[in-house]
Amino acid sequence: MAKLTVEDLELKGKKVLMRVDFNVPLKEVDGQQEVANDNRIVAALPTIKYVLSHGGRAVLFSHLGRIKSEDDKPALSMKPVAQRLADLLGQPVTFVPAIEGPELEDAINKLEDGQVLIFENTRYADVVDGEVVKRESKNDPALGAYWASLGDIFVNDAFGTAHRSHASNAGIAANIAQTAAGFLMEKEIKFLGGAVENPERPFVAIIGGAKVSDKITIIQNLLEKADKVIVGGGMAYTFAAAKGEKIGNSLFEEDKVELAKQLIADAGDKLVLPVDAVAADKFANDVDSYVAEGDIKDGYMGLDIGPKSVELFKSVLADAKTVVWNGPMGVFEMPNFAKGTLAIGEELVKVTEKGATTIVGGGDSTAAVQQLGVADKLSHISTGGGASLEYLEGKTLPGIAAISEK
Ligand code: AMP
Repeated sequence: MAKLTVEDLELKGKKVLMRVDFNVPLKEVDGQQEVANDNRIVAALPTIKYVLSHGGRAVLFSHLGRIKSEDDKPALSMKPVAQRLADLLGQPVTFVPAIEGPELEDAINKLEDGQVLIFENTRYADVVDGEVVKRESKNDPALGAYWASLGDIFVNDAFGTAHRSHASNAGIAANIAQTAAGFLMEKEIKFLGGAVENPERPFVAIIGGAKVSDKITIIQNLLEKADKVIVGGGMAYTFAAAKGEKIGNSLFEEDKVELAKQLIADAGDKLVLPVDAVAADKFANDVDSYVAEGDIKDGYMGLDIGPKSVELFKSVLADAKTVVWNGPMGVFEMPNFAKGTLAIGEELVKVTEKGATTIVGGGDSTAAVQQLGVADKLSHISTGGGASLEYLEGKTLPGIAAISEK
């Protein structure tokens, strides 16, 4: 069944609780905190504007950074975020410097249709009177019930926290009649959920990055769902070692070799591994390097996939109809070892133009496609790091499970 979205809701005159992801970087200017990058605020505007223009009374909240002591609170206040939001919306935004109590309740009750307020960082609830209690982060049932009591309906647009069961997502949802996805959340469910649940085939997954151990559950899940799974990046050398190749000083996880052998044996030609590497004598950009096919010389380490691997991976991608990509093919932060990742990014642009759905799954991969300048030419760039990984691992995300069915 499909999830309820904000467009399914009757919003007029309703107090609409809205969990947004305003976990933005801040900077200090003349002793005051300011928003250093407002991408996430801009991204949330469509859902907020939709609610306001349909006569909803928006009550916004988000976490911001991590609160481990009372001392962390002043520098992680939502106040600068409220100011930036007001500028972007072009209308006043009431900031309430509290997460509970009469001041917040009065402010909500005074809201008129089309007006908006934002209350303080939800993680202020993690420390009370100097004691670490994690009421938000451990989903204290009383807190979720209290926040739910402040509104009529709940819109969750914070995909980045969907893999956590917090008071401000699952806690509220458990205590309110209707929970709907905002537009950002809806898009993540459509693309990431669609890829793992009902992909148009051929479905090709590309997994890269540093460690097998970080991505093993994704590889296993996608081997079950995809038609091909391409593995590149640092983790490919543990697979190369499992095949009996020499890998020099490349990244290596000895305790994952047996697992890699098992996957190679079970997956057959579904698993596509690099056939060459750009190997360097040091972990730096300007170093002595060569293309190694098979064994890597002693004293050298593989820092990128080589040209034959690029051609092989492109041939696998050529007729793909759905592609999910997580993790770079090499040390893309160094220009000399970014070529493999760039080539894959460019190939994804081509298959997107041919009509394939191409999805980049958060974290470092998002940074890579942005650095390569191809982000806006792909179908979907996930905004969640941990959340998109867990989605691709096939796990149920509590924040999404808590959204009502249509
Ligand atoms: P992840 O967060 O697991 O996606 O890993 C991303 C990191 O893996 C990036 O910082 C890359 O520089 C790094 N990486 C990719 N390939 C290699 C490699 N061959 N050797 C060392 N690090 C790598």
